Amino acid sequence: NRRKKEDRRKNERNRNLQTGSVRAVPEHRICIADRVILCTGGLAGPVFGCGGDGYALAESLGHSLVPTVPALTPLICPEKALKMAAGVRCPAAITLICDGEETGAEQGELQITETAVSGIPVFQLSRLAGYALREGREVRVRADFLPGMPEEEWQKHVDLRLRDDRNQTLEQLFMGLVHPKLLRFILNRLGLVSEQKRAGVKTEQIRQVLQLMRGLDFEITDLAGYEKAQVTAGGIPLTETDPDTMESLACPGLYLAGELLDADGICGGYNLQWAMTGGLLAGRAAAGK
Ligand SMILES: Cc1cc2nc3c(=O)[nH]c(=O)nc-3n(C[C@H](O)[C@H](O)[C@H](O)COP(=O)(O)OP(=O)(O)OC[C@H]3O[C@@H](n4cnc5c(N)ncnc54)[C@H](O)[C@@H]3O)c2cc1C
Repeated sequence: NRRKKEDRRKNERNRNLQTGSVRAVPEHRICIADRVILCTGGLAGPVFGCGGDGYALAESLGHSLVPTVPALTPLICPEKALKMAAGVRCPAAITLICDGEETGAEQGELQITETAVSGIPVFQLSRLAGYALREGREVRVRADFLPGMPEEEWQKHVDLRLRDDRNQTLEQLFMGLVHPKLLRFILNRLGLVSEQKRAGVKTEQIRQVLQLMRGLDFEITDLAGYEKAQVTAGGIPLTETDPDTMESLACPGLYLAGELLDADGICGGYNLQWAMTGGLLAGRAAAGK
């Protein structure tokens, strides 16, 4: 009798599969539904239960996957001396340089930690940095710490600092241009210290300090990872869904929404908006409205 019952269940399942319904297997239970919305998020923020399960489910139902990288995340800088500038938050214009080529630029508040550069402008470049690192490219971030300063005004600062005043320390000489911790870090790059007197420093070195304030490079070797990321770049290609209903083109009856898809936005609420709008379209379509 048990065997007959089992056979009946199997036949029922197969019938459902033949009519095009979607089959999912959550922890030893098989659920068969006419319409399923897959919105399991990506890999960012694993503490919220996002482990990328949706990718495997979608792939098992005929979808492909654009490789994923963490996005809106800090960039890891291996330079040991970075701790000298840890805690600095300052305005900066940031350029992302991959294999010597400028691939992106952002402006905003830069944050420096002991191991990473962070803050909104860095976050917004992190997806590009992530894909470049994935391809094995050399990645650097260049920061201009006096963004938007008109050339004429900058030239006045340069002239003032180049003028001979041998009694000043370097800290006094450069006061007011950048955060004192950042100044120490910049001076350290050139083998100088803040307490040093101007008298022992060549004019060319003073010029170099000023140049670094307008373009300081940070070597980037990694991203801070999905634990620190706010969103996942990559995912199920948008071309594999109907944009009006979010229905899968690979598996009718399946709807996809949110971060699971290959779409990620910059900071500003765009990722939540994307997830909610897609969810609304998918929900309406799945409910047959
Ligand atoms: C720290 C942080 C800050 C953020 N800040 C912003 C912001 O300020 N503005 C903005 O626009 N966006 C922000 N985001 C991004 C935004 O929250 C996400 O892009 C958005 O929530 C994605 O929505 P979603 O529904 O696709 O996925 P999620 O909101 O991630 O929801 C997916 C859900 O599916 C569940 N799940 C996963 N796998 C399974 C499974 N196998 N079975 C059952 N359930 C499962 C997860 O537990 C989760 O509850 C932030 C993200 C993080 C991590």
